[in-house]
Amino acid sequence: MKNSYLIIFISTIFSLSSVMSQEMEDPSILSNFSDGPYVFISNNRLIEKKILNGEVTSRVLEPTRYDTIFTPQKSRYENVENIAALSDIHGQYDLAVEILKNNGIIDRNLDWNFGKGHLVIVGDVFDRGPKINEMLWLLYKLEIQAKETGGRLHFLLGNHEYMVLHKDLRYVHDRYTISSKLLGLEYDELYSNQTIIGRWLRSKSTIIKINNSIFVHGGISEEFISKNGIDLSDTNQIMRSSIQRSKQEMKSTDFYKTYYGKKSLIWYRGYFYDNLADADISKILTQVNSEHIVVGHCSNEKVVQLYDYKIFGVDSSIKKGTYGELLFIKNNQFYRGTLDGKQVKF
Ligand code: ZN
Repeated sequence: MKNSYLIIFISTIFSLSSVMSQEMEDPSILSNFSDGPYVFISNNRLIEKKILNGEVTSRVLEPTRYDTIFTPQKSRYENVENIAALSDIHGQYDLAVEILKNNGIIDRNLDWNFGKGHLVIVGDVFDRGPKINEMLWLLYKLEIQAKETGGRLHFLLGNHEYMVLHKDLRYVHDRYTISSKLLGLEYDELYSNQTIIGRWLRSKSTIIKINNSIFVHGGISEEFISKNGIDLSDTNQIMRSSIQRSKQEMKSTDFYKTYYGKKSLIWYRGYFYDNLADADISKILTQVNSEHIVVGHCSNEKVVQLYDYKIFGVDSSIKKGTYGELLFIKNNQFYRGTLDGKQVKF
C-alpha cells in the first residue's frame, strides 16, 4: 500500500516537472501556444509583449495608450439602483463571459451593457484556471466603459490575488509556467508594479459598501473587527500597502495574522463553517453598520443566502468551468442570475 502511494507521489512530481520540458521540446505544442498581452512600464515607455505561436513579440506602444497611475476608488457608494456581484472566476474566462453576457452585463462584443449599474467582482480572478490574463484585461476595459456610462466595476482583491502578488505561485495553471519561461520572468513579475495590470491591481480595494451591503472576499469576523475596527477606506489602504511588504516582515508582528490569517477579510470562512449563531451575525452587521454582507471564497453550487438574507455567498463554483451564477440586487431585492440569464428571486 505504502509503496503504491510512493509511486503515485513520485510519478505526480515527475509529471508536473516534465510538463514544461515536454511543452518546450515538442514543437507542435509550442507552435500553437499563444498568450498576452503583458504591458511593461520601462523608463517611461510602454512595452507590450505577446506570445504568438510560441514566439515572443515585443513592441513599444504610444505612451498615452494606457494610464500608468491608478487612483484608488472610494470605499462607499450610495443610491445605486442596480448591483451585480460575481466571484471566484479563477481563470474560467469563457464561462464568466457567458454569465455576464446572458445576464445583460456585457453585450455580444463584450462591451459594458449595465448602464449605471455596479458590477462587483468579489475576488479570486487569479489561479487554478487557464485564462487569467484575458479576464484581467476584460475587467480592465469594462471598468473604463462602466465609468463612461455612470456605472462602476469594482474589482475586489481576494486571497488568490494577494497570493500571486506575494509570489505564492502554488496554484498557477501550467499555461503560465510556459508563458513565464518564454518571457523569461517569474509569473508574479508579469503583474509587477512595473506593468499596467499590476499597477491597476495595486490600486484595488478589498472591502466596499454599496447601499446597505458590504462586499468582501472572505468575510468579516468578530476577531477582525476587534483588532482592526471598521473603517473601510483605512482597511483598504492597509491592505494595498501590504502588497509591497514581505511576508517575513509582516509575520514578525501580529499584522500577518490579522490581515492574512484565517479570520482575515480575504481568508475567513466562518459564515459557512463556524456554526455562528444568528446573534453573532447580527452583532457583526451592527458593528459594521450594514444590513448584508456579500462574500465569495466558499464554493456552492449556486448563489446562496444564509442567516435570513443577512449573508450572501456568490462563489458559485465557476472554477469547475461548467456552471456559475451571479447575484443581482435591485431595489433591495435579491435575485440569482443563472447561467442562461434567468433571474430567480430569493
Ligand atoms: Zn478565495
